[in-house]
Amino acid sequence: MDYCSTREGNKLFTAAETISMGLAPDGGLFVPAGPWPQISLDNLIDKGYFERAAAVISPFLERFSAAEINSSLQKAYGTGFSHRGIAPLHLLAKGLFSLELWHGPTSAFKDLALQFLPHLLRKAKEKRGDGSTAVILTATSGDTGKAALAGFCDLPGTKVIVFYPLEGVSEIQRRQMITQKGKNVHVVAVRGNFDHAQAGVKEMLTDGALAGRMAAGGLKFSSANSINWGRLLPQMVYYFSAYLDLRRDGHIEPGERVNFVVPTGNFGNILAGFYASLMGLPVHRLICAANRNHVLTDFFREGCYNRKRPFYRTLSPSMDILVSSNLERLLFELSDRDPAKVGSWMQALRERGFYQIDPALRRALAAIFWSDYADDEETVAAISKSYRQYRYLIDPHTAVALSVYEKYRAATGDQTATVIASTASPFKFAESVVRALLPPERAAGHSALGMMPLLAETTGLDIPAPLVDLDLQPVRHTGVVDRPGMREEVLGYLDL
Ligand SMILES: *Cc1c(COP(=O)(O)O)cnc(C)c1O
Repeated sequence: MDYCSTREGNKLFTAAETISMGLAPDGGLFVPAGPWPQISLDNLIDKGYFERAAAVISPFLERFSAAEINSSLQKAYGTGFSHRGIAPLHLLAKGLFSLELWHGPTSAFKDLALQFLPHLLRKAKEKRGDGSTAVILTATSGDTGKAALAGFCDLPGTKVIVFYPLEGVSEIQRRQMITQKGKNVHVVAVRGNFDHAQAGVKEMLTDGALAGRMAAGGLKFSSANSINWGRLLPQMVYYFSAYLDLRRDGHIEPGERVNFVVPTGNFGNILAGFYASLMGLPVHRLICAANRNHVLTDFFREGCYNRKRPFYRTLSPSMDILVSSNLERLLFELSDRDPAKVGSWMQALRERGFYQIDPALRRALAAIFWSDYADDEETVAAISKSYRQYRYLIDPHTAVALSVYEKYRAATGDQTATVIASTASPFKFAESVVRALLPPERAAGHSALGMMPLLAETTGLDIPAPLVDLDLQPVRHTGVVDRPGMREEVLGYLDL
């Protein structure tokens, strides 16, 4: 499989180039240039996560050997995950399941991709005979940063720089990042929101002069954001694995279609589900769940993507995003891979703040996607309801998905078996979860970190191992910059 940019269809790149470059030279995103491989499901039903993963991933990595792919999978999922199933399903009610994507080392779904990507990236650079140090430059809405730090920590030939919005991440997320160990990691806060941090990072990744200066010092940028194709690849796997588990356990019949509900921010996770459907996975609806920053819901309903709107901080900070980068890939695929069209929409978004798609594309979107949003009040209500009704504890992002699923059921009456993507451990957002479950006086006097033991005591569940000693870890990163200062910060850390 070769790859091309969403903004220029003719120039082809290998998988190794695609993964090590991250962003295409013209500012577009890399996408497969060939037809989508078709995965045959029947012989994967009684296989484990590793074999399923190899079957899904291998067709995209033609010049990687089976041994290379398997060893990367082992390094990624062999020891760092606390559940043997890696991404297990939990039955909530008949026909309704939670896909638990938070058993990895940082307790959020980003681990599924970011435990794997570093090993893939190393192999990709090897294949290109590229001896430079990979500088992973990342903007995070909270969970990516920690997952990237954990994935790349002390990996030879790499350095990691993480920018997070000062006011936009939870206290536990912030603690996870600023206490990160490792000789090759640097964590900095940016005054502003996630979109500011992401825009700053994108700018540096496409800055030719900066690239030249880096090259002279034996350094080269790479991205661990979900714009990197190497992140989407391992995310397709758990859509297949969830479906195969449903088949294996007799919850669905051969060929039966299922819905996935995905709490969405940068559109990476749900895009992987869309790609899985193109690879033969029987998907009925992909339900895009948004929070109060519902730019995507408006887009799916009205066909206009408009980022000119107020930005809200919500209880689901990893979804507080106004520019969902990966949507560009969906538009490319559904507009019959027309790079000129995609390029003009992206230009309009940059210059005017919005773009309008045509009726044909709207119809193509509506055939598979459905979208709604949940505000903070509904999010809290969903956490509480899930615990009362299903005895199942969920974090605010998963709660957004559950709340939107109920709206979907009410609006459509659809009874198709449905999988909710559960994207973070409830302990990672213990403050909001406690608020949903306990009266205010019970939580009074507890710090953000102190909410975790309170939640454990209330529910009888264990705090995930990676979160247990967070308050005892020394703070290692204290830097804060303004948006224009990001570049200086990078130059300084890299001694350029
Ligand atoms: C990143 C994240 C999301 C959003 O995923 P996207 O791929 O950006 O759409 C949702 N929930 C949690 C907990 C996350 O960390």
